[in-house]
Amino acid sequence: MPQYTIHTSSAFDPKQKKFVENLSITVDSTTGLIVRVFVRDVEKEPLSKIMMDGDVDLRGKFLMPGFVDAHTHIFLHSYDETPALQQKRDESMAERVVRAVNHCKTALLAGYTTYRDLGSEGMQEADANMRDAIARGLTPGPRLFVATRVLASTGSYEPRTENSNGGHCLPAGGEAVDGIDEIRRAVRRRIAAGADIIKFFADYRRRIMRSPPAQQHPYIPSVLHPPREPNPDYMVFSDEEMKMIVSEAALARCPVAAHCCTLEGALAAIDAGVHTIEHVYFATDDMFRAMVKKNVVLVPTLAIAEKLHKARFPTILKQVKRAHELGVRLACGGDTGTFSHGDNVRELELMIEAGIPVVDVLEACTVGGWDACGGDLCGARFGWLEEGLQADLIAVDEDPIISAGALRKIGFVMKDAKIWKQDGKPLGMI
Ligand SMILES: [Zn+2]
Repeated sequence: MPQYTIHTSSAFDPKQKKFVENLSITVDSTTGLIVRVFVRDVEKEPLSKIMMDGDVDLRGKFLMPGFVDAHTHIFLHSYDETPALQQKRDESMAERVVRAVNHCKTALLAGYTTYRDLGSEGMQEADANMRDAIARGLTPGPRLFVATRVLASTGSYEPRTENSNGGHCLPAGGEAVDGIDEIRRAVRRRIAAGADIIKFFADYRRRIMRSPPAQQHPYIPSVLHPPREPNPDYMVFSDEEMKMIVSEAALARCPVAAHCCTLEGALAAIDAGVHTIEHVYFATDDMFRAMVKKNVVLVPTLAIAEKLHKARFPTILKQVKRAHELGVRLACGGDTGTFSHGDNVRELELMIEAGIPVVDVLEACTVGGWDACGGDLCGARFGWLEEGLQADLIAVDEDPIISAGALRKIGFVMKDAKIWKQDGKPLGMI
């Protein structure tokens, strides 16, 4: 049966930011799209009358559009298991691909039907290849939008050691480029290599050899009396270089994401016209107002900030709340991969902890995620319930508005009109 209908008693409409009653959604498994959304008149038409063969009865559950994690790394696994440097240096490409296959399955079963994957971290363009393998039905996973290799200037995002004898022999995390001509070529190379998003570093801890920790990763506090800020972030690109990244990407209608851990970096990236800024641990009201004015999406990556920036974390939470108050467009992306895939929902929990209403957080994790992927620039529509959208639906047993743990118990997952989980059990996993 190419078309069938999901019947619900409670479905989240992110556009209205509320759960609506008695919604039914007809999907088409040949196109992967939603073909009809309608409210049942339960008085006149009890479900027994309209229920067809192949339909799914999700009454009593809480249905939502599939979640979007707006900042992930499929080739990374938790830094608590293995630090970043060792993953890039010691794990074979085959192992990293196998891990990514597993991460993608886990993410899909956790309700994440889209991943915005911001950098292959030493795996070249394999993220684009994974995207295509999933799209071809070879292995289950979220719909991927990938950045391939991230852009940074020379020496800014490259694993280093104190023994310079062998030169830079560690696998590069991204692509080192300098000057506007090289940058123009690099953006063209990324587009040609299949990037859906261009990601660059606006700032990074690039003077890390000055007050060692010995290497870029991991952060070894080996100096006896380190300065208070041993490895602060400094600007990676000039304004002119950032503007070139954005203008060259715009020729290919490609959105740009900027890693910004300083206020200076964030302001320059916003000014350059980026689509999203990531992390943003130092913010001001003026900065948030500039984001609103220029429609820049904020991906606060609270889930990794919770681990790496413990001391400032209460301030970071307050900043995200303030961004929300000022009307900044938020998307939920945890920097997933630096912590476990499958634990993606931690980002939502922290946004709720920051004081953002649950319905706004659910909206940020659905429509906000689509916006972060570039909106219509990404070539597909998903994240809300409407005819013509990708049929990505998930459901939980308990009301997520009142039950804190509900989002960790995903019972139903559909992506592109194919059901991957039902009654809490995986279906058709390869
Ligand atoms: Zn990241």
